[in-house]
Amino acid sequence: MYTGNQLRDMFLNFFASKGHRILPSASLIPKDDPTLLLTVAGMVPFKPYFMRKVEPPFPRATTSQKCVRTPDLEVVGKTARHHTFFEMLGNFSFGDYFKGEAIPWAWEFVTEVLKLPIDQLWITVHPEDEEAKNLWIEKTGVSPERIKYDPENLWAAGPVGPCGYCSEIYVDLGESRGCGKPDCALGCDCDRFLEIWNLVFMQYNRDEAGVLTPLPKQNIDTGMGLERIASVMQGAASNFDTDLFLPIINKVSELSGIPYHDNPKNDVAMKVVADHTRAVSFMLSDGIRPGSEGRGYVLRRILRRAIRYARLLGIDKPFLEQIFLIIQRDYSHHYPELKENENFILNHLRLEEKNFQATLEQGTQILQEKVKALQEAGETMLSGADAFYLYETYGFPVELTEEMLIEQGMSVDMEAFNAAAEEHRRLAKEQSQQMKAVQESAAISEKAKALGVTPFLGYHELAAHTKV
Ligand code: ATP
Ligand code: MG
Ligand code: MG
Ligand code: MG
Repeated sequence: MYTGNQLRDMFLNFFASKGHRILPSASLIPKDDPTLLLTVAGMVPFKPYFMRKVEPPFPRATTSQKCVRTPDLEVVGKTARHHTFFEMLGNFSFGDYFKGEAIPWAWEFVTEVLKLPIDQLWITVHPEDEEAKNLWIEKTGVSPERIKYDPENLWAAGPVGPCGYCSEIYVDLGESRGCGKPDCALGCDCDRFLEIWNLVFMQYNRDEAGVLTPLPKQNIDTGMGLERIASVMQGAASNFDTDLFLPIINKVSELSGIPYHDNPKNDVAMKVVADHTRAVSFMLSDGIRPGSEGRGYVLRRILRRAIRYARLLGIDKPFLEQIFLIIQRDYSHHYPELKENENFILNHLRLEEKNFQATLEQGTQILQEKVKALQEAGETMLSGADAFYLYETYGFPVELTEEMLIEQGMSVDMEAFNAAAEEHRRLAKEQSQQMKAVQESAAISEKAKALGVTPFLGYHELAAHTKV
């Protein structure tokens, strides 16, 4: 059986043998890229090469890239295949080879190196990409019945930037892994047909208006989830049951005293705690600081979610550090930043955990009083204003307020909560713009003073001084 570490090496070495340069993962913080908060795919660090904003120093590269995808947050632990943080294996061509090489190499890796059975594999192509379909048939010998059209096979890292048609490889894990619905087939959202690899034929740039224009050269960008391929190769029931995750899950189980695979609800919570703690560890190792906006807020949100789910398992003492140490032990060989930045990581984990525990205690107490008042008044809905007060004043997450009220057979007026949050954001933005203006004018007069010139104070003041 191949371990996750071996599979990562096998992928990188395979593409090195095809003339690719092995590069270390880039940071989770995208460099000079205002369109993205976090690195969401292996291609992100290479965008300037695809756009030819920077001349690529080599024509081919291969990486195992650290990625974070917050849109997948809610399904973590519920599906067998989604994480917030995961590793994406990829091979890249910067205006060098194109579909005619990318397709047969992917097939070679999957069927000859990994030796996955051909009769379990499925391919999707874009309906307008006959070229890709023909290449699959001609260059790999895959049966045409195994190639399906998918109109969604146009891939982009964000609303603007390089994009192109794509072609995906799926593994049929068998009926036992399906949802059991009579129409369950390739394309079903359940875990039976597992998407393992996406080959993107980077050919266009998409602008703000959604218009596609051809890139200066044709490129290749592929992405294969390491945890997914590990689950296939290890015959695991999910990504979480691979050697990449089990030691982390086992630690969660040990801390909670609850066995893994004992009941489905607890399993989801264990997977969430394991996944989120791993994400937070890697985000901190790249220097992201917990905060109230941007990527710092994403980090804080994931971290707090880990703590909430740990509480569902009965873990109410600090635990993040102990799980981090397992992650550090298992991953620092490939990601030395987990060792190098240990102090930074531990300091933030401890501090955030301590503060959030305090928040939880305080918030829970206030919430209990509110619930009591509602019960006495014969009401069942907490007002949006109350939920917002808890959120704004104590940092008590509204999802938690909701969960706790549901437990009491009650609910939260989410519409009113969202309206209050929106109004608050608007006011905060207005205030920060005013502040900025004040600071800028102060900076200008400071500078002017330093230069010994009389600052321009605006027409209003000028008029006052030059009364005629
Ligand atoms: P899915 O349809 O399963 O959500 P995707 O189509 O969104 O996956 P891509 O954007 O094509 O994924 O990313 C390339 C590869 O990265 C996928 O084929 C998969 O192996 C892996 N991957 C994508 N999202 C995740 C995730 N949240 N967790 C783990 N692996 C992922
Ligand atoms: Mg997805
Ligand atoms: Mg997909
Ligand atoms: Mg995909």
